[in-house]
Amino acid sequence: MPSYKQRCMVCKNSYVLVKSSRQKFVTCIDCEMIYVKKPIENKKMAEIFDIPVDWYMENYFLRSIRYQYGRWGTLTERQLEAFKKAVEDMKKEKAKK
Ligand SMILES: [Zn+2]
Repeated sequence: MPSYKQRCMVCKNSYVLVKSSRQKFVTCIDCEMIYVKKPIENKKMAEIFDIPVDWYMENYFLRSIRYQYGRWGTLTERQLEAFKKAVEDMKKEKAKK
């Protein structure tokens, strides 16, 4: 599928490059980062999401999971596991450099 540009559904200002048809809710990084930076009250979750902000900027997957939690306050067990695994991968990748 070719990528195309679509206006962010939140701020209706920035254009976002959409690469996958699975990406139904289109938001720009700026709008996502608002939720990413939102403080988490749940201690266990706060610990899981306690990774450098840069990683959220770099990695769409990490950002989308964190965004979802910030916005809806809920995640499935599978999403959580996938997030933790992605963080591990990121740590390994960062250690290589
Ligand atoms: Zn936006």
